[in-house]
Amino acid sequence: MCIFCDIIDHKIPSAVVYEDEKVLAILDISQVTYGHTLVMPKKHVRNIIEADEESVLACVSVAKKLAAQIVKNTKANGVNVLTNCGEAAGQSVDHLHFHIIPRYDENDAIELKFNESPKQDLAEVLKTVKG
Ligand code: 5GP
Ligand code: ZN
Repeated sequence: MCIFCDIIDHKIPSAVVYEDEKVLAILDISQVTYGHTLVMPKKHVRNIIEADEESVLACVSVAKKLAAQIVKNTKANGVNVLTNCGEAAGQSVDHLHFHIIPRYDENDAIELKFNESPKQDLAEVLKTVKG
């Protein structure tokens, strides 16, 4: 179905960090920082919005435990746990996955920066967000 399904089916080799009936966690081939890991449901679901709740909760539960394990074992100073949803958000593989990215210092290879943006009327934003 997709490259991650082939990894889950062991048709493509990967470095398995954790596996159970619902979830697979593997080292990301790109290793944006040392220990960069991907947590994905074994069921093919495209992203966090389209996924069933069970798949999301199973992944988040594993991601929480692995984030702690990876930070401890890599001696990282922090960790980003994130999922990209949609091309505009940087999703390149359309099979839900959570990145666990250990952080070492502000000069490591990832920069998550919230730039200055125009002030918004929060009452108006709230109306839009709540629909
Ligand atoms: P996205 O950009 O969709 O949030 O993240 C996809 C991630 O999958 C990227 O960080 C990329 O390095 C990783 N990736 C893509 N193909 C493979 C692969 O064949 N094996 C592994 N281990 N990671 C992959
Ligand atoms: Zn898939």
